Amino acid sequence: MISVFGSANMDLVAYVTEAPKRGETITGHRFRTVPGGKGANQAIAAARAGAEVAFLGAVGDDGFGAEMRATLTEAGVDVRGLRQVPGPSGIAHIVVDDHGGNSIIVVPGANGTVTGPCGDDLAAIAASQALLLQLELPMEAVVAAAQAAQVSGVPVILTPAPAQPLPEELLDAVTMIVPNEHEAAAITGVTGPDAALDALLERVQEAVITLGSEGALYGSRAGERLRMPAVTVQAVDTTAAGDTFVGALAVARSEGSGVEDALRFASAAAALSVQREGASTSMPTRPEIEDSLS
Ligand code: ADP
Repeated sequence: MISVFGSANMDLVAYVTEAPKRGETITGHRFRTVPGGKGANQAIAAARAGAEVAFLGAVGDDGFGAEMRATLTEAGVDVRGLRQVPGPSGIAHIVVDDHGGNSIIVVPGANGTVTGPCGDDLAAIAASQALLLQLELPMEAVVAAAQAAQVSGVPVILTPAPAQPLPEELLDAVTMIVPNEHEAAAITGVTGPDAALDALLERVQEAVITLGSEGALYGSRAGERLRMPAVTVQAVDTTAAGDTFVGALAVARSEGSGVEDALRFASAAAALSVQREGASTSMPTRPEIEDSLS
């Protein structure tokens, strides 16, 4: 089993010609709501990639919360650890203009109320082959979850997004960190993936820097280095490519795959996801991933 302790957001996406200026009201072309949040995305990615997954987090007592719960449940994710708290669910308010630019307001809502894991959450984490963490919950809660996993000897895979300074107490409990190129640069203050990888490995045992269509770069403190090229595909929508990659990587690692096979599995899953629109809706199933690898 894989546990994901993280955020669930409803993305509210409005498509416009030009984003409105202050005081202006404009008419958009299209609107859609998309269940998201890095935690929920990674949980769905891992479940579709073939693992039993428990999601630990919080939604509000509004319609968005009910929809998030239904989406996770439909994907086969165990939501017994998804709490409902009074007030609004987390949302991301996104304006996309005709030039492909976007502006985003994230309001954490219920995600901001999450404290550390407790009770049944701790039992779920202790029974897992891996714990997936991101940084869309309060930092104290993320640290507490990482430490709970460490105490039980459960590997912790951290996606350090949104990028921010990482406390030592968090990194001490992390087994593998998986930033994209921008996050790796922001965290380490170093440009260039090879140099950023070196800097990350001073603080964590294993790191993977994802490089979009350039693939991914893996390194371990033991001295192993590996470059996994991306699968060449026609990308339609790269939203949540990173979350699909991490979810699939965790599944392969938890099944005992070696690093190279796990990276190949994750790249295949992410390449399938970028060929389809959407976040959770674009994530491939286990048979789809295996077909693409054969
Ligand atoms: P994020 O979505 O977090 O910014 P990346 O853009 O680095 O992460 O993408 C994560 C992984 O998804 C990459 O390592 C690669 O395997 C895959 N990927 C991303 N973009 C493409 C693409 N255009 N073609 C094929 N694979 C891609």
